[in-house]
Parts: sequence; structure tokens; C-alpha cells
Amino acid sequence: MTDRDLLMIPGPIEFEPTVLEALGRKTLSHLDPRFIETFGKLLEDVRDVFGAPNCTPMVLAGGGTLAMELAATNVIDPGDNVLVYNTGYFSDRMARIAERLGANVDHVRAAIGEAPPLEALDKALTEKRYKIVTMTHVDTSTGVLAPVRQIASHAKKSGSLTIVDAVCSAGGEELHQASWQIDIALSGSQKALGAPPGLAIALFSQAAIEARKAKKVVPASLYLDIEEWLPIAQAYESRKPSYFSTPPVNLISALAASTQLLLEEGMSARVARHRWISHAFRAAWQALGLASLSVDPHATAHTLSALLYPTGIDASLIGAIRDEGVVVAGGLHPDAKTKYFRVGHMGSTRGGDVLTTVGAIERALVRMGYTTFEQGVGLAAANKVIGGALPHT
Ligand code: PMP
Repeated sequence: MTDRDLLMIPGPIEFEPTVLEALGRKTLSHLDPRFIETFGKLLEDVRDVFGAPNCTPMVLAGGGTLAMELAATNVIDPGDNVLVYNTGYFSDRMARIAERLGANVDHVRAAIGEAPPLEALDKALTEKRYKIVTMTHVDTSTGVLAPVRQIASHAKKSGSLTIVDAVCSAGGEELHQASWQIDIALSGSQKALGAPPGLAIALFSQAAIEARKAKKVVPASLYLDIEEWLPIAQAYESRKPSYFSTPPVNLISALAASTQLLLEEGMSARVARHRWISHAFRAAWQALGLASLSVDPHATAHTLSALLYPTGIDASLIGAIRDEGVVVAGGLHPDAKTKYFRVGHMGSTRGGDVLTTVGAIERALVRMGYTTFEQGVGLAAANKVIGGALPHT
């Protein structure tokens, strides 16, 4: 592997030079007015990225999993009923977090690669009262795109709080936290938000903040208690110095740089670009005879592809693709891990990256003896989409 290899895994991703440059700058004091301005502006921008004008954003040192724990810890009490709309490995992770907090967790499940029907969700919601409904917008283990808007609307009608894991969607898929009635949306810095790994992001609605205040049990973790962080977020937004735990200055500067780029591109244009890129990939997969693990194209992510190995091909394909200069990822869902691989296409992915990736996959497949396609058909199919107009819907 070399630094010139193209990183096409579902996070971390290739990011823009200005983001790297921000990361490499001299580390300022977290109380330096320049950093206070950067962090304050980032918090404002994060609201725009998530479509969350009235929510309170928190950006903490940690992974996406920390953001999941931050969300859960502040609203779950032992004995609370939590319903998980389950689309894969990361939905299961949220369930494990809720269980550790003493919640009674139920699942609405479907076969791997499918989104559970909304009727099943409704059935569960009428059978029991749930304090919280959680969902994974894009489950990175399956490539399933959950119908978050509908799930949240059904959950709110039954009086539940909604938590959305947007780690693999924020900055790439359409997401409007406030109008979609999401109480807590959470993410990580390393995917479609376009920065290095290391930051946990979560935005809390007023109802979620009230739920923390109403909790019977104070969070066992001081670091994860939003009561500690709320004054800090407010201070940075008012451009005032404050301290609870030292913020990762360079990572925050990097995320601020990528968020600025994101808003310059415009959220709807960015979402359209992700669709366009994913359609170019989908055209290539079809031409090559590669089937998606996620079965319904309308419930399939635009930020990654999860592809079943064709007959006679196994996980050594990943190494063969790497030999062609592109890094892709293996399967993740424990029940299907060895049957598929994943290609991330989010953040700053461009048309040229699609062609580089498809070309590498074609050559690797041919080298491994998979010759049911005419070499170049995947590239031609992708190129046709790339050459078309950028969709704006
Ligand atoms: N949720 C989803 C949907 C993810 O894709 C990931 C990371 N792949 C996580 C949560 C956890 O994030 P992290 O690895 O940064 O802890």
C-alpha cells in the first residue's frame, strides 16, 4: 500500500487538502480567540449541515460510538423501553449500548440487506410504549438506507424520543433533523463530513435536553453528561472562553475546514452529488454482474456499496483490488461477513475516483478468473452516468 492508493472504504475517507492543512497547523490554546472563533463557527455550521436550527450541537473527542453513547446515556434510565429499528451491525451496537444502560430493548428486524417494513414498526409501537426509538440512517454493515423521516414521524406520534445514528449519512444523504422530528442525530467526523476520524458529533433537541434533566439516574460517566457540555457549547457559540475537557484543537479545526467546504457546496447539491456518484457505481455493478447486499435500490445508501462476491470469488478480491491501487473494505455483518465487500463513496468523491475504482475492480476480477463480463463494460457504464448531467433532485 502506498500513499497514492485511493482510499475507498466507508470511512475514513480521502479528504480535501485544506482539511489536512487545518489539521497540520500549530496547535492553539483552546482559549485562544482564534480557536474560539473556529469552534464557535463550527457549532453554528454543524446545525446547518444537520438541518437543526433549534438543536444544540456537541462536538467531542471520540469516535462515532462515543456519539452513540453520548446520545443514549443522556436519555435512557434503567428499565426504560427502547425500540431499535434494526438494519444491521450498527443498529445492534446501539441496542448493546442501551442494554448496558439497563434498558429493555426490543427490535424490529428484517432479513440482512432489507429495511424492516413500517407496518412492523407500527405493530411494535402499538403493542408497547417506548420511551425511545433508535434507527441507523445508513447501516454501514449492510448498505441499507432506513426511511428515517417516516420512522421518526411514526415514533413521535406514539410519544417516543427519536435517536438517529447518522454516522454514515450526515453530509452525504438527505437529512433534516428538525423537520424530520429527530431528537438526537449523531455522527462521526470521518465519513461524509470529510474530516479525519476522532470527533463525535451529536445534536440534541430541546425535548432531548429536557429528557436528560428528567432522568432519574445521573449518567455514570462525567465525560458523557451533556449537563457538563451544554455550558461549553453555549460559551463557544457566544465566542467566550470556557473549559470542561480539553477539546482536540486540530481535529476541530479540520472539521471546521471540511464543514465550511460542505456548506460552500450547499447541502442539496452535495446530496445530489452523492446520488449521482452512487448511480454511476450502481451502473458499473450492474454491468459487471455484481449484486448488492442491500436488496431494494430505494432503500440503498448513496454513501457506500455493499457487494456480494460473485460465484468463485472470495475475500482475496480485496487484496487484488489493492494491488490495483484502490483500498476497499471487507464485509462487516457477522452473519454475512465473508460473502461481500464494501466500497465507500462519500465526502469529496469525484467522477474520476469512480472510474479509478471501477477500473481497479474490473482488473482484479479478471486477474482472479472472473471473466463473465467484457472488460471495460463497468467503466463504460459508470462513465455514461458521470458524463450525464448532475442531478439536482
Ligand atoms: N454507526 C455507523 C453507522 C457507523 O458506520 C460507524 C462506523 N463505521 C459507527 C456507528 C461507529 O463509529 P466509530 O467507528 O467511529 O466508533
